[in-house]
Amino acid sequence: MKDLNQEQSTIQSRKVYRNLITGGAGFLGSHLADKLMNAGQEVICLDNYFTGRKSNLKQWIGHPKFELIRHDVTEPITLEVDRIWHLACPASPVHYQFNPIKTAKTSFLGTYNMLGLARRVGARILLASTSEVYGDPEIHPQPESYRGCVNTLGIRSCYDEGKRIAETLCFDYQRMHNTQIRIMRIFNTYGPRMLPEDGRVVSNFIVQALRGKELTIYGDGQQTRSFCYVDDLIEGMILLMNGVHPGPINVGNPKEFTILELAEIIRKKLNPNLKFTNKPLPQDDPLQRQPVIDLAEKELGWEPKTNLEDGLEKTIEWFKSKLTGEDF
Ligand code: NAD
Ligand code: UDP
Repeated sequence: MKDLNQEQSTIQSRKVYRNLITGGAGFLGSHLADKLMNAGQEVICLDNYFTGRKSNLKQWIGHPKFELIRHDVTEPITLEVDRIWHLACPASPVHYQFNPIKTAKTSFLGTYNMLGLARRVGARILLASTSEVYGDPEIHPQPESYRGCVNTLGIRSCYDEGKRIAETLCFDYQRMHNTQIRIMRIFNTYGPRMLPEDGRVVSNFIVQALRGKELTIYGDGQQTRSFCYVDDLIEGMILLMNGVHPGPINVGNPKEFTILELAEIIRKKLNPNLKFTNKPLPQDDPLQRQPVIDLAEKELGWEPKTNLEDGLEKTIEWFKSKLTGEDF
């Protein structure tokens, strides 16, 4: 597997790119900004702060190679950039269902605007797509060739169908305008800087456990997910952008857990006396999810390095420091 430090020094020795990160103040976007800035790249982060926070980027504010712009990707913008990392879109079901019409607009219009920008300035664009394009999958685990099983009418559709049309737009820009595209299908990723009220399962369980509250298990907890630590994911993202394969490429950790298993691990780490409480399974909640990562291994030389126990330790330490700090 290629080492990220090697990768970063390759970026450094090759060229300093002008990188635009949409959604740069969010969870993944701010970690990507850190990696690119630490590699000596120029970075412009753009965000409307719906689920992102300026504090995620405070370490770079004032740096000569860094800029932060408040902007909504549903509106066009003119910038001179070489690379567009298009991450802007709420990722947690709680947030993308808050205003589903806005989520669909962000997915379609946001991607359309960023592809238009990429075309105008000749930039390469990477789309942060998702395992949600597979919907509630009938094939398990999921390879990129699987076309998915998505309900067009349900409460997750604004996001799932939004990402599907975003992928379609990328390929149409490639076919019509030769735009250089990279599509990454991201599976559940966790780590420091998730919002405490983010609503996703890892942050929910950690925050509930740290606050001494019952862990909320939706349904019977037998549904599965595969959890990737953020550093691994960002490494895969950079390799995909720098490589030649347009994707789509699955990036995620193939080790699969039931939600109940995840709850047990976090309870054991933080407070074995905590209770579980069952809540209804949300509509269209996928029952199973696990990536096939053969393509990422072959094309990018990528596989995850961080196991769940180690990734959770780092995430728990971060939440502990924040829950007692003034940022919360
Ligand atoms: P996040 O919610 O932390 O980050 C999204 C960022 O986009 C936030 O900073 C938000 O304020 C910004 N944003 C939202 N709508 C915007 C708009 N209209 N204009 C400008 N900015 C806007 O989520 P994340 O986990 O960092 O996800 C980043 C990307 O990765 C998303 O596109 C998401 O769909 C994708 N993804 C993430 C995961 C995961 O597990 N983290 C899984 C699959 C896909
Ligand atoms: N989930 C849960 N309790 C929570 C939050 C989520 O049991 O407090 C479940 C949810 O129903 C889903 C899984 O955990 O089956 C992952 O949910 P998340 O929102 O993290 O991501 P996604 O469903 O988009 O994969």
